[in-house]
Amino acid sequence: MLIQDGIPTREDIQSVTPPAHRLAQGAVAIAECFQKIPCNPCAKACVKKAIRVEPDINATPKVDFDICNGCGACVARCPGLAIFVVDMTYSGGEALVKLPFEFLPVPQEGQLACGLSRSGEELGWFPVVKAVSGGKRNMTCTISLAVPKELAMEVRNIKVGGYRDGR
Ligand code: SF4
Ligand code: SF4
Repeated sequence: MLIQDGIPTREDIQSVTPPAHRLAQGAVAIAECFQKIPCNPCAKACVKKAIRVEPDINATPKVDFDICNGCGACVARCPGLAIFVVDMTYSGGEALVKLPFEFLPVPQEGQLACGLSRSGEELGWFPVVKAVSGGKRNMTCTISLAVPKELAMEVRNIKVGGYRDGR
């Protein structure tokens, strides 16, 4: 349970997961942010205004899945590392998961990275499709991992230094 071990429950995750028909349409943001804290950089990062923190800054964010285009701009802007983008249309068997990463070294494009579940369980080795810096004033990177579709809702981190070359 989140309040005890920092790991959201299945019900928590389901409450923020886009419906199957939206997932089937392409990339979309998922805000796994469940605690009422005064925070809203995610909403400010989204030029499409697809994330709302209402009625006040203590509310949890809500993603409008019809407006979100999965650009990923919000991922590196969340101080809680709580936003992910999932693209179930990436390839026949793989989904693309964009996740925030704040450690060094940063995995390189073309490497394989060890993907972790929300509880830190190792789920396998997955290709790093892209590694994008957050910019000069933001040390959070956005890492895009190609994962089997059945793990798209499970892989939410990568093991620091858990990288190797080749497919
Ligand atoms: S992925 Fe892009 S469009 Fe979607 S909520 Fe984030 S910033 Fe907005
Ligand atoms: S920026 Fe992150 S932690 Fe803050 S409200 Fe948005 S999703 Fe939650």
